[in-house]
Amino acid sequence: GETPSTSLPAAGKVDERFTRFDRHPGYQQLKLMREGGQRLGIPDPFFKVHEGTAGATTIIGGRECINFASYNYLGLAHHPKVIQAGIEALERYGSSVSASRPVSGERPIHQALEKAIAETYEVEDAVVFVSGHATNVSTLGYLLGPKDLILHDEYIHNSTVVGAQLSGARRMSFAHNDPAALETLLARHRHQFERVVIVIEGLYSMDGDAPDLKRFVEIKQRHQTWLMVDEAHSFAVMGKEGLGLREHCGVPAQDVDIWMGTLSKTMSGCGGYIAGCQALIEMLRYFAPGFLYSVGMPAQVAAPSLAALAVMKEEPERLERLHDISRYFLEQAKLRDFDVGESIGVAVVPVIVGSSVLAAGLSDALLKHDINVQPILHPAVPEKSARLRFFLNCDHTRGQIDATLDALEAEWSARTS
Ligand code: PMP
Repeated sequence: GETPSTSLPAAGKVDERFTRFDRHPGYQQLKLMREGGQRLGIPDPFFKVHEGTAGATTIIGGRECINFASYNYLGLAHHPKVIQAGIEALERYGSSVSASRPVSGERPIHQALEKAIAETYEVEDAVVFVSGHATNVSTLGYLLGPKDLILHDEYIHNSTVVGAQLSGARRMSFAHNDPAALETLLARHRHQFERVVIVIEGLYSMDGDAPDLKRFVEIKQRHQTWLMVDEAHSFAVMGKEGLGLREHCGVPAQDVDIWMGTLSKTMSGCGGYIAGCQALIEMLRYFAPGFLYSVGMPAQVAAPSLAALAVMKEEPERLERLHDISRYFLEQAKLRDFDVGESIGVAVVPVIVGSSVLAAGLSDALLKHDINVQPILHPAVPEKSARLRFFLNCDHTRGQIDATLDALEAEWSARTS
């Protein structure tokens, strides 16, 4: 056939670096990581396949392992009541709500879940998003703009950083858990901006430490900013009743402007929430892009989270067991002179080993003892603080902890002596 004539000039030859995915810097980085692992004889520590439910134990490669890599802290993701709630919701509402919530995706289970979250927090209202990550991205991206400032802890989760970037606001980080460093930034910059939001986490998931909420509240009140707390790992984990950082620190819910959390940890579902005053929540329901332009949460995801919240309240011994076993792990790790950083011994305890190669090697060695623990490698943390990160579970036993720490001690000394 004839070549169609065109008035557009022919493009010059574009360098392959800009047209091929395998020339993208990200792919080059992946190749380097894999080659490094192969050279050292360490298998890829990511994407291990779990063949059933993952709680205090899990099945990997057909073998039952003690499991420290899942944030199913209260073991509710396989609780019969939680599973039953999911089955009933699936049968009643089908597998998808087939529209965004404002359009025709609203179901009674969404409203029941949001009401339960708001009541648990003792705030006016709450809204759930289909992803925890998208909750932070959309909320910060929507609420803040170029005349505003976002101040966050240097260890804040990626979702807050991405939300801040989307918002177009100025973003500054302050030293980890350091209210004085925050104060310095506010003294210098508060007056240059309109809205200012401080973002911290309830329980930092790499370190298992927590902020002094009272001090952050005092600072935010004095500088007239908003305070947002990401409770992904602290809600339904910290406090005797599982009410999160506010219970742990004895601070009224109203002292924090934006409570954020996820449904993917103790809540045994998937998604995130924002809880706070009516004006905030209504605005997000009508305008936050990740809510408005995204499908409503599937009923079989919302219902298990609602059931998990109820079971947490009905069976308070789960929280007590989680707190006991976490404390035990921390004590026993310290007795063996392991470096546990600043962990307060609630649900998350790292053992810092100081090199990515050692962390990956120890994780691989422990798996051969049927113990599953994730190595946290550079660049997720600085190289000198590469670690094994232990998530505790209320169903862990002291015997499992002893066996794990014994195996770790033996494998570690075999590699250093
Ligand atoms: N915030 C924090 C502090 C997190 O740790 C995570 C993920 N674990 C998220 C937000 C994102 O939540 P999700 O995985 O439920 O999307």
